[in-house]
Amino acid sequence: MDINGDRLWRFLDEVNEFGSLESGGVERLAWTEAEIAARGWLAERCKTEGLDVDFDEAGNVWAFSGERPAVMLGSHLDTVPNGGRFDGALGIVSALETLLTARESKVSGWDRLGLLCFTDEEGVRFGLGMTGSRALSGDIEPDEVRAATTSSGVRLSDELAAAGFDAENIGSVASRRNDVRAYLEVHVEQGRRLERAGVAAGIVTGIVGLSHWRIEVAGEANHAGTTMADDRRDALIPVAAAALEAQNVMRATDGLVATVGEAEVTNGATNIVPGHARATLDVRSLDEHLIDEANERIMAAARTAAEANGCELRIIETKRLHPAPMASPVLDAMRAAASDLDVDVPEMPSMAGHDAMTLSKGNVECGMVFVRSEAGISHSPKERSSQEDCVAGANLLATAALRLAAGL
Ligand SMILES: [Zn+2]
Repeated sequence: MDINGDRLWRFLDEVNEFGSLESGGVERLAWTEAEIAARGWLAERCKTEGLDVDFDEAGNVWAFSGERPAVMLGSHLDTVPNGGRFDGALGIVSALETLLTARESKVSGWDRLGLLCFTDEEGVRFGLGMTGSRALSGDIEPDEVRAATTSSGVRLSDELAAAGFDAENIGSVASRRNDVRAYLEVHVEQGRRLERAGVAAGIVTGIVGLSHWRIEVAGEANHAGTTMADDRRDALIPVAAAALEAQNVMRATDGLVATVGEAEVTNGATNIVPGHARATLDVRSLDEHLIDEANERIMAAARTAAEANGCELRIIETKRLHPAPMASPVLDAMRAAASDLDVDVPEMPSMAGHDAMTLSKGNVECGMVFVRSEAGISHSPKERSSQEDCVAGANLLATAALRLAAGL
């Protein structure tokens, strides 16, 4: 079965009319008019096609071809500010297109497919992120929703209420896991690995874990002219050592990235030896042991530099997300699908978070297909994938989903 590539592309154009920008990008922040309208479009579109459609209390859109539980295909329709046309939207239109073509072709498993559109994946407005999939995983309390506000004080619970949903009842979403046999998602890669490999699509083996640290260094502020090398307690040096070691570790470790993304000299000036510095460290890998090893090496470099420079060092882990490997039965179905389609599909971890990460932790069997991103650009109006590549990704999704659905 081949999906209808022209219809897929039309759906993408249709949904991207909501929140479209003159720059060529789109902006549909969660629970804004444009994002609500895009989800409304999706629900209407599914109803028109005769699918069985409803919303849960988190505002997630559900649509079924027939029986439940079903193999659910989906993504999200919210975007970052000044975002692109593919992140999220491609997964939704691929899901819709798969359901329609499968039903038209009456291939085995067509009536065990569903579509799932999650709300607030990006987490830009309310500082939560993956809110819809967390609700489905049973990993969010009404308290957290009640406390979530935008920077200007708009409450998420009010936005939900205005759209007819009850934040107090968000716990009810978790019972919908009974409708989900597995969750599969097509998403743009948002990196350059597929482009480098010269292939249209790839299979995601898992979503990396991450570790965030805050580094604080206390040295001694002093005159930059009169304080000689031996007399200095320069607080920036341990931060610099951490940044350099992060690069060394990353270059030496396959599938790991490490970044000192914020570094600041407190009350710094051109003519002052830094007296106090702070920085952050972000380390990601699919292998948690590699994360721990990288942390140790980077912190050891900072510690050595702190001792050599008479500085005090404080390092605190501020966030830890465990890696989320994709489910073996789904990976097997995707590999078999690649073989059915006679395409060469590389396997790779996802370096960014997705709803599939949250759902895996909620014991849903998940899998993802990546589609080549031109120049690796995402979260930008310049985000682009060719129609050919999107069709290749959707066909891999469809073939894998039907293999799973036919076995139900
Ligand atoms: Zn996304």
